[in-house]
Amino acid sequence: MEFDKVKTQSQRIRRQRTWLFIYAFAVTCALIVSVRNNNDVEASMPGNIKISEMAPEEFPEYTLIAADENTDVYDDENVAFAPEDGMLAPETAETTINEDVVVVAKGDSFIGILTNMGLSYADATDIYTAYRKVFDARNIKVGQELHITSAAIGEDEKEVSVSSVMVEPVKGTRYIVEKNAEGIYESRTEQDQLIDDVKTIDGVIEGNLSVAMGDAGVPLNVIGNFIDIFSFSVDFRRDIHTGDKFEVRYERKLAPDGSVVKTGDIVFAALQLGKDKYELYRFEDKSGNADYYDEKGLALKKNLDRKPMEFKQARISSRFGRRFHPILKRYRGHDGVDYAAPSGTKIYASGDGVVTMAKWYGGYGKYIKIRHNAEYSTGYAHMRSFAKGIRPGVRVKQGQVIGYVGNTGLSTGPHLHFEVVRNGKKVDPLKVKAATGKNLSGAKLAEFKKVVAKVKASADQEKEIASAEDADQIGQMIEKFE
Ligand SMILES: [Zn+2]
Repeated sequence: MEFDKVKTQSQRIRRQRTWLFIYAFAVTCALIVSVRNNNDVEASMPGNIKISEMAPEEFPEYTLIAADENTDVYDDENVAFAPEDGMLAPETAETTINEDVVVVAKGDSFIGILTNMGLSYADATDIYTAYRKVFDARNIKVGQELHITSAAIGEDEKEVSVSSVMVEPVKGTRYIVEKNAEGIYESRTEQDQLIDDVKTIDGVIEGNLSVAMGDAGVPLNVIGNFIDIFSFSVDFRRDIHTGDKFEVRYERKLAPDGSVVKTGDIVFAALQLGKDKYELYRFEDKSGNADYYDEKGLALKKNLDRKPMEFKQARISSRFGRRFHPILKRYRGHDGVDYAAPSGTKIYASGDGVVTMAKWYGGYGKYIKIRHNAEYSTGYAHMRSFAKGIRPGVRVKQGQVIGYVGNTGLSTGPHLHFEVVRNGKKVDPLKVKAATGKNLSGAKLAEFKKVVAKVKASADQEKEIASAEDADQIGQMIEKFE
């Protein structure tokens, strides 16, 4: 019978300080209660007596567990049982260990948080100093959690002794300061092994690309990088229409629990704009230069060509800024750069864009203007003639021939007057970020093709896993209904 078992086992408990009395008292009370309420007293395991389900009014706060017959009595939070006043003579309770999570609030300082808990300023400073070897605790941020293990000490328990502090500013990286056996604070870093991962997100654009990407769950910094990648190929205000599509694949670092620690580079970026498809792969060469290329290894033209013409040795005959005008015979601003070149030299589009002007334009003679994006336009003056098919509204690619060097308008000899307009203002073309993209060839191209194959293979794999997960879910649903 369970009743007897408890009784005989508790009788076997040897006298051990005053706790025996407490224990006996508690057990007796519990037994009385249990008998009165006709409740069972559990004897869960031999030598491990658990008394539960006491009437709350009889024993309001404690559930007593004796781990074995030689131990003190503990409640279920592993705190030594101390009788309340009036039950037995009060004893000093054993040390209570507190594990607090303090969320840093505005205006908090690390040392301030510790001293507010009751830690002495000297100890708080010791902790701060020990911490500095791995983490400067002045860098704690509002909202960050400090996990503090402490115990109340001293006669009146108003002082506090802190045994450890842990902060995890980046998921998976924990900075810990801990009191060692000699009572000295030591710090260390715990680093979870991060998992490399590539995430793919695609979606249909309804009006605004960044809104569509945000809605699909693409992190803000990845959206920013995506737009940067395409900023010289796509005019985001004019080229994007409802129903266009995007796809982005970017690197991530995951903590073991699968949470994202940080996002990395975009390895693949695609835009389907009407019938035009742009697919770009990231490639980093051995010296660490990274750029984006299409599947064939052709470089993405990110920036404007500062000398958009066939004759690359063309001499600069006049720079941007104030100069004495050779025909007008007075000082005036020169709002472009002049390249002297033989008549008929091919002139290229400085970047991808749309032709907005192709006509005789006063002193500029035969003039073409191309809008590249919301920020940049370029102008080309004194042309002998325009290339076939070049007229307003036509899309041009960087490097495409748009016309030929001439001497039309206010000009003293064949040259290209080239200007760059940034946000409506003419700027020095030579100070504009130069086009960098070089097409891949040879060994680099071979390396690049491997990267493309890898990105494609992992995309396929991801799709397989996703469909397997779907199949698994369907399987589980079927099981439920069977
Ligand atoms: Zn000029």
